[in-house]
Amino acid sequence: MQRRPFLATLGATAAALTTGTRAQEAPGRKLGWALVGLGSLSTHQIAPALAKTKHCRLAAIVTGTPEKAEKWKAQYGIPDSHVYNYETFDRIAENPDVDVIYVVLPNSMHEEFVIRGAKAGKHVFCEKPMANSADECRRMIAAMKSAGKQLGVGYRCQFEPHHRECMRLAREKVFGDLKFIEAGFGFQIGDPAQWRLRKKLAGGGALMDVGIYALQACRYLTGEEPVEIVAQEVKTDPVKFAEVDETISWSMKFPSGVMASVMTTYAFNGVNSFTAVCQNGKFGMDPAYSYDGLKGWTSKPEVKIEFPAVDHFQTEMDAFAAAILADVAFVPSGEEGLWDLLAIEAIYRSIAEGKAVTVGNV
Ligand code: NAD
Repeated sequence: MQRRPFLATLGATAAALTTGTRAQEAPGRKLGWALVGLGSLSTHQIAPALAKTKHCRLAAIVTGTPEKAEKWKAQYGIPDSHVYNYETFDRIAENPDVDVIYVVLPNSMHEEFVIRGAKAGKHVFCEKPMANSADECRRMIAAMKSAGKQLGVGYRCQFEPHHRECMRLAREKVFGDLKFIEAGFGFQIGDPAQWRLRKKLAGGGALMDVGIYALQACRYLTGEEPVEIVAQEVKTDPVKFAEVDETISWSMKFPSGVMASVMTTYAFNGVNSFTAVCQNGKFGMDPAYSYDGLKGWTSKPEVKIEFPAVDHFQTEMDAFAAAILADVAFVPSGEEGLWDLLAIEAIYRSIAEGKAVTVGNV
């Protein structure tokens, strides 16, 4: 069987979360993180989240913009010796204060910096989508394996309690067997000049950027890998979306017979949810993938999905650090990113060929 049981993944994720206790008892030190790319996500989400973590601290920065370096040095008290640019990055190997490299660059640059991070002998955490192709993911996984270091992918929803409860409801069949999933995530993208609309940098459009969240939800609710996919694409603005996809809807068949109907778009707001239809009821989230304000619901008043808000970036970085400190394998690892790219490649292939296609293998 080529397809790994996803439930093992969930177990390992839970292990990574619970190892927090072991890690706290073990070495008292916080792992030093180097942020590569100081764009919107690093500035507004990751740096503030790092300050809230138990096991991590901001140790170094890597940026191509000297003005940003000055601002971050002053704001976070980072010494000159811990500031790198894309050319001097490899010297990070000689900095014992850096344990983890967090790649927060445009998608096409993930492969290069993950592999350079591996060669520097550091653990690497990589933003989603892991890369622009399954082959890039394979090379990244191989580089990290030969470095003997951990590779984590930034699937923050897997560290968010509403999502985790939905995984449990599906896994423990609280509403009976899962039968059908409807999921989608999209938004109206602005600035037509941004890298997200350039195929070379982004690898694709809405699907690579936000459709991947809805794809992930289907995968972690079923605990399976899709075997067959059929997809359709619509472009209402062929100028703005000349290089990348604007709106895609696709269906996936899973080995147990679960069907999923999924969509993503860069053309409009309003789709940010999933519904899991089971034999004896249903549950879901709406909104499902935002940084905050998430809401879960079920068809039975006695079963509630209600949790206090968490900072997804804080919980995922702490889980990665805890796994490293406790020396247990972190999930979602590079393989998880690779499975998503295999499904994404199948979606694009189905659109190009105009027919249902099977999903590739690791
Ligand atoms: P951004 O455009 O705000 O930042 C990108 C950074 O890369 C900038 O600092 C920019 O200077 C730098 N860069 C280097 N070379 C570049 C080039 N050739 N073109 C453009 N920028 C270049 O993007 P972002 O929103 O911070 O996204 C970065 C990564 O994080 C992407 O992979 C994205 O998918 C991911 N992301 C994840 C989440 C999440 O919720 N997990 C949210 C947003 C973004």
